Amino acid sequence: MPRKRIPLEPRACEYCGTVYMPDRVTARWCQSGCYARWLIETRKAERAARRIVYEMVCPICDIKFQTSHHAKKFCSEKCQARDSSQRQIQRLKIDRETARRYRRAHIERLRSTPEGRAKIKRWNDQKNARVSAERRQRRLDRDKE
Ligand SMILES: [Zn+2]
Ligand SMILES: [Zn+2]
Repeated sequence: MPRKRIPLEPRACEYCGTVYMPDRVTARWCQSGCYARWLIETRKAERAARRIVYEMVCPICDIKFQTSHHAKKFCSEKCQARDSSQRQIQRLKIDRETARRYRRAHIERLRSTPEGRAKIKRWNDQKNARVSAERRQRRLDRDKE
């Protein structure tokens, strides 16, 4: 008994819209190239739909920007560079602060012994001598004018 064939009618390709004559009932594209392109675009669209867009505010210039990377903090490379140089300055400040604290602690230790106190006195004498020498020099310079 011969199989009853469903008559196929021309249809439009789901990718390029070209009307073509399908060779089977389930055909959806006019050629395999259209299927491949349709697949790529569909996947791309799915990925884009899944992607979360984060609204961020750049901490350097206060500009609002969108990104799909939650770790991105700056609107541009320029702002990122500015941030890292600011951080470097901050680090230097902290280093200076630490050095000052060490020096203060060192002086505290020196003050607790007679030798230490003598050393501090020597430093202070030297410093005073330098300051008064500088003052004298400045006075001489002024007199010359
Ligand atoms: Zn096509
Ligand atoms: Zn910025």
